[in-house]
Formats: sequence, C-alpha cells, structure tokens
Amino acid sequence: MLSRKQQVLQEVFGFGSFRPLQDQAVDKILAGEDVLLILSTGGGKSLCYQLPALLMDGVLVVVSPLLALMQDQILGLESKGISAAMLSSMQSMEEIRATEDALRNQEIKVLFVAPERLNNDYFLSFLQSLNIAFFAVDEAHCVSEWGHEFRADYRKLGLLKIRFPDISIAAFTATATQQVEKDIVAQLNFKQRGNIIRGTVLRDNLYISAVVRQENGYQQVLNFLEKRTNEQGIIYVQSRVKTESLAKFLQEKGFQAQAYHAGLSPEKRKSAFNNFVGEKTNIMVATIAFGMGIDKSDIRFVIHTSIPKTIESYYQEIGRAGRDGLSSEVLLLYGTSDIGVLSRFIDAVDNEDYRQLAFQKLNTVKQYAFSESCRHQALSRYFDEDVEPCKTMCDNCNEPDTKRKDITELAQKFISTVYRTEQRFGQNYIIDVLRGAKTQKILNNNHDKLSVYGIGQNLSKIQWKMIGDRLLELEIIQVSDEFRGLILTDKARSVLKSEEKVDIRAINFNVSKKSASIAKKSTLPEYDFDEVIFESLRALRLEIAMETKMPAYVIFDNKTLQAMAYLLPTDKEKFLQINGVGEVKYKKYGEQFLALINTLRADDFQDPTH
Ligand code: ADP
Ligand code: ZN
Repeated sequence: MLSRKQQVLQEVFGFGSFRPLQDQAVDKILAGEDVLLILSTGGGKSLCYQLPALLMDGVLVVVSPLLALMQDQILGLESKGISAAMLSSMQSMEEIRATEDALRNQEIKVLFVAPERLNNDYFLSFLQSLNIAFFAVDEAHCVSEWGHEFRADYRKLGLLKIRFPDISIAAFTATATQQVEKDIVAQLNFKQRGNIIRGTVLRDNLYISAVVRQENGYQQVLNFLEKRTNEQGIIYVQSRVKTESLAKFLQEKGFQAQAYHAGLSPEKRKSAFNNFVGEKTNIMVATIAFGMGIDKSDIRFVIHTSIPKTIESYYQEIGRAGRDGLSSEVLLLYGTSDIGVLSRFIDAVDNEDYRQLAFQKLNTVKQYAFSESCRHQALSRYFDEDVEPCKTMCDNCNEPDTKRKDITELAQKFISTVYRTEQRFGQNYIIDVLRGAKTQKILNNNHDKLSVYGIGQNLSKIQWKMIGDRLLELEIIQVSDEFRGLILTDKARSVLKSEEKVDIRAINFNVSKKSASIAKKSTLPEYDFDEVIFESLRALRLEIAMETKMPAYVIFDNKTLQAMAYLLPTDKEKFLQINGVGEVKYKKYGEQFLALINTLRADDFQDPTH
C-alpha cells in the first residue's frame, strides 16, 4: 500500500516518485524537526514544503523574498486545489483583513509573507493566535552575511524560534557554501543543527563555456544564437543601456529579443515579462533585475556578456537554464575591463568589511572565468563539493590541449614593460607602451624613451590584452591592491629567465582579422574605461547639447567623459577631481552626470531579490 506521502505526491502533485533528497526532507519536516535543504535550482524545493503541509494540521507560513514568486506559487497551489494566500504591503487594508479572517477560520493552507512582516509585532501576535504547521524559509542564503544576497530582514528571522519555540523551521536555498549553511542554521536558531541536507551542485545537463570577449561581444552572441534559433534564453548584460542596445542589435538581425531592466516602467516590465513567459518573444536581454521571479523550466540558454560579481550569482543565473533537466547551454563572455569596472563599484562602497568580501568574491569569479580546468568541477568545488572533471560538458574538458600556442617570448615583452614602467600602470597603459602609442601620458612620463617602447607593434591591442589576461590568470602578474597598477609576482622572474613557459589556448588568441584591424585604427584611450558607461555618458552629453544648443565637446570633451567612465565618481568632491571639471561645470552639469553614474551603478549593485 502506498504511504500517505506517496499518495499525495501522486494525487495532488501528479508525480510518480520523489526526486533525490525530497523524500528525506519531507520526512524531517513531518517529524517536526528543523531542516535546511540545499538543492540546486530546479531540484524541486517547493514540493518539499508544500507536500508535508498537506499532511499536517494548521497553516504553513512561507517566507519568500519576492512578490512575483509568491504570486506564481499561489496560482500553482490553487490549480492543485490547495488554498493559498499572501500578505503583502502592496495590498489594501480590505484585502489584508479578508485574508486574516480566512486564516482565523482555517480556510488557508499556505500563507506567503515577506520577511519584513515577521519583524512586526502585531503580525507576530496574530500568528501566535493561529495554528501553524511549520515555517518554510525560501532563499535562506539571504540570512547569511557570507552569502551573496544578505538581507537584514532575513537576519531578524532568528526571532521565529524565540516567539515560536515549538514550531519547526524548514529552510531552502540553491546556493550555500559550508560557511553559509552553518550560518543559516545558527542564525535561525535551529534545534537540530545537524539537519542539513545537501544535494549536488552539479548541473550536468548544462554545457558551460567561457570565452574572452571580443569588442563588445555582440558578434559572439550572434554566432551563439544562430545555433539556437527558436529557443528561449536570457542574456545578462552589465547595464541598462546595454540591454537596450543589444536587444536592438538582435532585433535588427531578426531575433525576437527584448530589453528588461529595473528602469523600465512597471507596465513595460510586466509586458516584457509576460511576452517572454508566454513565448511571444525568445530572448530576454536583461540586467540581473530579471530572473528570480521566473520559474520557466524550458529556458535553453543563458549568456553573460561580462563577468558577474560572485560565483553564487553566476551559478544562480546559469541555473535558470535547463530546469527541466534537458540539455542546455550557458556562455560567459569575459574581459579584464569587467574586473576594473566592478572593482570601482566595490571601491565606492563605504564599508571595509563589505569591500574585502566583495573583492575576494570577485577575484574568485575572475579566476573561474580565466581558468582552463573543468568548469563543473570548479563550480562544485566552490560550493565545497568534489566531483570528477565532466569530460564532455564544458569547453575546457572538450577542447584538446594540443591546440595551444607558446607565447613565452611575448609574455617576456609584457613583463619587461611592466618592470620598466615601475609597476605603476594598468593594462591599457602597458599595452600602449608596447605598441608605441603617442599618448600624452606616455610622453609626459618619458616612456617613449624606454627600450620596450614599440616592441609589440606586430600584435593588436586585443591580442595584447589576451596575453595580459593570461598572465593574470597564471598569477605571473597581479593587479595591485588598490586595483590600480599591474605588479609582478615571483613567477615573473622564472618566465623572464625562460625557466617557465607560458602558453594560451589558440582559439582565444586567433582574433578575427576584422576586430584586429578595428583595434588598430581606434584611438588608444588612456583609461581602461567601460565602453557602455562611456556611451551612456555621451548620450547624456548629446541630450544636454541639444537642449542648450551648445557643441557637445564644450560641455565635456571625450577624454573627460572617459575619465568619468573610469573613475565613476560618487559625489561632488570626487567629481571635481576629474580633469576637465571645474566648479562652474560642476554647477551646470555635475548633478545630471552623477545621477546617471549612480543609475548605472544601481544596476550593477542592486540586490537581485528586489
Ligand atoms: P526549485 O524551487 O528547487 O528551483 P521547483 O520547486 O520550482 O524547483 O521545481 C522545479 C520543477 O521540478 C518544477 O517544474 C516541479 O514541478 C518539478 N518537480 C518537483 N518535484 C518533482 C518530482 N518529484 N517529480 C517530477 N517533477 C518534479
Ligand atoms: Zn568539464
């Protein structure tokens, strides 16, 4: 005879069997114990709290960070004949009263609430008057400061055990290192701290690759998409402006793409969302603002066009592909300038502990991107799980090592240049010296007199960047602590003496002729600024120019805008430090530019759970 839980599994949920670990988690909950379940995205976490609730007396209270998620879940539950409701600050008093009445009359089985509601004394007292089955805490990594999406409201969930000592808590997350999992059970005051059930992180239906970005990466995105027409996917980009420009580019190439970011009006966001979910469009070009609320299981690909801030967020974002278990593909396009941009955003945060942690996390993502070993293994290891190399499901396992190019001699030129310029300059400057560029800065420093000046003219800027990136990956050079200049490590000496060889994956190094020649022609900027940010600043300048009928360069010249895009000033004082900005110009335009820089920043540093 079927057990009651098997019966509910079949009759209510329509599934023949439990997925790995679901059964175990359900048993703990039914036994009235606290439990933390770490299961990869798509692993089936929701069933683990929905099912036991049906076998228990009282209402299940689910703490969930996102309105959209709650709404989806309520619809899903109601379609299964389970009464569910939510309490949110977006509702009217009448709606809230009606839900409270229904709860008092025991007409609701599952109640969704935002974490902040559980800090409210009135609400806690109200809950105490009800019969509660247990608490479920979704996205539980938000509890931990060591996680990547810490939320103060979640931290206060420690109160639950104090106010409801006899009611058990089930917590769920897809991403938790061992440090984070310990923190979660401690912060939530678990009675059974050992009740941690950890599923495998491995998503073996995802084919993972990471490739050096060429120019803005649009052509690479296009090449990828041409293999995957009529499939749905998400492209993550770093800024709002870039969602618009890439979406437009793809539309012009005949793809049904649309932009999505937090700056769109609620109507536009909603329609973009609905179009995607309803499969009217295939491609969402989005900032990280998009994703948490979507549980579409047949997304076939996820592309990142720049390095994400943390492995956790990267893992979560690629996890949106292939939740149905069918084979899917994820691609990361990366470049060193990503690190610079993100670093400066981190630098601007006024909290030393935060900065340290953020830099450390960023450094790990950087190493991951540049790494030449199995991607699945690297991700699993990050989450403290050891697996064998995947052999077939990532670029590094798939591409034979034979296709490599020896670049020792080029590496020596690069290292010498870093040394001769006294380890004080960033990659772009070093490359300018190598390629013999006549920038003012080089002339001022007399670096055109150095023996290394111009010894690298035979390679394009992009190729030199790849060499620089490879040296960074191998830790032959490092970016100094303040993320300013490149410095040499002990390994550099061995390379200079030819005791150690340097090679690079040939496929990355062979830049197409087209991009190489473009690189040659383009002016060589002094700052390693982000092109997208620069373009947005230029757009604002054009707007002001048209309004005031002044030539654009009179407002700020390109060099000043580039410095702005590089330094990303946060306030007046920092803004005034930029060459070409005086008090008068600040008064006229400063606030507009600061505001724009801040919105660009907001996209990069916004908490994706909002
Ligand atoms: P998570 O919250 O862990 O990301 P979900 O709870 O959204 O995952 O579940 C992912 C998908 O797996 C959903 O479509 C769900 O219906 C399905 N699913 C969950 N449990 C089972 C099961 N035992 N058998 C088959 N499908 C399942
Ligand atoms: Zn692999």
